[in-house]
Amino acid sequence: MSKELKQNLAKAEKFLARYKNDILPHHINGKEDMGRSGETFENHSPFDNSLIGRAASGNEADIDAACQAAWAAYPMWSSCPPAERQKILHKFTDLITERAEEIAIVESADTGQPIKFMAKAAIRGAANFKFYADRALESHNGQSLPAQDHMNFTVRKAIGPIGVITPWNTPFMLSTWKIAPALAAGCPIVHKPAEWSPMTAQLLAEIASEAGIPAGVWNLVHGLGETAGKALTEHEHIKAIAFVGETSTGSHIMRQGADTLKRVHFELGGKNPVVVFDDADFDRALDAVIFMIYSLNGERCTSSSRLIIQEGIQDKFIEALKSRVAKIKYGHPLDPATEVGPLIHDRHLQKVLEFVEFAKEDGAVVAVGGEKPSAKTGDEMLSKGNFIQPTLFINADNDMRIARGEIFGPVLTVMSFTDEEDALKIANDTEYGLAAYVWTNDLGRGHRMALGFEAGMVWVNSENNRNLQAPFGGVKNSGIGRDGGDYSFEFYMETKNICVALGVHNIPKLGK
Ligand code: NAD
Repeated sequence: MSKELKQNLAKAEKFLARYKNDILPHHINGKEDMGRSGETFENHSPFDNSLIGRAASGNEADIDAACQAAWAAYPMWSSCPPAERQKILHKFTDLITERAEEIAIVESADTGQPIKFMAKAAIRGAANFKFYADRALESHNGQSLPAQDHMNFTVRKAIGPIGVITPWNTPFMLSTWKIAPALAAGCPIVHKPAEWSPMTAQLLAEIASEAGIPAGVWNLVHGLGETAGKALTEHEHIKAIAFVGETSTGSHIMRQGADTLKRVHFELGGKNPVVVFDDADFDRALDAVIFMIYSLNGERCTSSSRLIIQEGIQDKFIEALKSRVAKIKYGHPLDPATEVGPLIHDRHLQKVLEFVEFAKEDGAVVAVGGEKPSAKTGDEMLSKGNFIQPTLFINADNDMRIARGEIFGPVLTVMSFTDEEDALKIANDTEYGLAAYVWTNDLGRGHRMALGFEAGMVWVNSENNRNLQAPFGGVKNSGIGRDGGDYSFEFYMETKNICVALGVHNIPKLGK
C-alpha cells in the first residue's frame, strides 16, 4: 500500500466516522429533519460493499414539508436584491474551497470514483458557484425590443421552487451545476440526491446553512426515486424540475409532472461517438480517446463510448489502444495512482458485465479485460468490490448491443469506417445525441463533421473541454434544454414582456 493511499485512508476514516454512527438527515426549512416515517436506507462502499452509513428515507409527507418551506421562502428569495444573493453565493464558493479535500474524499469513498478526478470535481463545484455568483446581478436582465409606436422590454423573474434530482456518477459537481444558477436566479430548491450516493449532499446542505442561505431556500430530502423523487415531480408548489439521470427516468418524470404542467430540463444518457480520421494527430487522438472513456470509471454521460476509426490507421490505433488499456491502473479509489475505481453498485456492475456477454454473443472480440477481478485474474483483493477490468471490444459493428446501449462503465467499443459519409452515418445511427468528438487535421472536414453530427455538443480535436458560459445539453434521447451561461437563467426564470405605447398610434374605435 502506497504512503499516499495510507494517508487518504486515515483521512477517510476521520471524515466518514460521522456517517457510521449517525443517520443522514433531510434538511427542511433550515433544520435537520429525520423524516416522518422513521424509515432509512443503507449506503454501501463500492470498494468492498461494506455498510458505510444510512440515510433517512423520505416519503410524500417529507417532500410536502420541504416543498411548503420552499414555497413560503419563494417571495423573499426571489425579491431579495441580487447583490445579496451574490454575496451569499460567493461565500458558498469559499466554503466549498475550504472543505474541498473533505468533499473529494467523501465523494470518492461513496461513489468509487478515483480521488484524482474527485479532487478536481470538488474544485469545479466551487467554480460553478463562483460563475453564477458573478452573474447573479444580470439574472433579471431582459431585452429592449423597439417596435412601431411602441416600446417592448422584457424582465425576468424566478419561476418558483425547483425540484433538483441528481444521479450517482459525480453527484457533488452535478448538484452544484444545477443548484448554483437556480439560487442565483432567486429560486428556492428541494434537492433529491441519488440513493446510491447520498453523502456529499449532506456537506452541501451544511455549507448552505453556514453560507447564510435563509431557511426554506435550500431543502434536501433523501430517498428513493420511485417515492421521494416521484412525489417531488408531482408537487404543486414545484414549478420546474432540473433532472440529470437515465433517459427512461426522464420519461417517467415527464408523465408524473404532466398534471401540474412542470417545466422540465433533462440531462439524460448518451452513446457518444469519437471519429478518428487517418490524418489525425495519432498520439493526441489516442490520449483523448482513452481519457474520454476510462476516466470517471466510464460513468460519465459525455464519455466517448463508441470509437469509429478510419480503416487506414485502425490496426495501428487498436494495437496502441490494447497496450494502453491493459496498463490502466485500477484499484482503490482513494489511491492517487488509481485511474479506474470500482463501479457504484453491484447491480450496476452486473449490468456492465452483461454487456461483455452480449459482445461475445454478437460476434465482437473482447481484446482487453472484460472480467471482474478475482483470484483467477490475480486480483483477489479487489474481488469484494464492484470492479471490472478496463475493457476493450474490437471487431464490433453499430448494430451490436455493445454499440447501442449506454453501458456506463470503463468499456470501449471499436468499429471502423471508410469515408466521411460512412463515419457520419455510423455516428448518427443512435437514439442518443449528447456529445460527439472528431479528430482530423483537415479543417474543412472537421467543420463539416461538426455540422453533421446529431449532437448537442461537438468537440473537434479536443477531449471534453468545458467552458461554463457555453451551452451544455443533448438532442434526441439525450435531453431537453441547455445549461451554462445565460441558458440556465432562461430555464429557472420566467420572461415577462412589457409593451408601452408611445401615445400616437391609432386605437380601433368600436360602437362609435
Ligand atoms: P437514474 O435515472 O436511475 O436516477 C437519477 C435520479 O432520479 C436519482 O436521484 C433517482 O432516485 C431519481 N429517480 C428515479 N426514478 C424516479 C422517478 N420515477 N421520479 C423521480 N425521480 C426518480 O440515473 P442514475 O443511474 O442515477 O445515473 C446515471 C444516468 O445519468 C446515465 O444514464 C447518465 O448518462 C445520466 N447522466 C446524464 C448526464 C448529462 O448531462 N446528460 C450527466 C450525468 C449522468
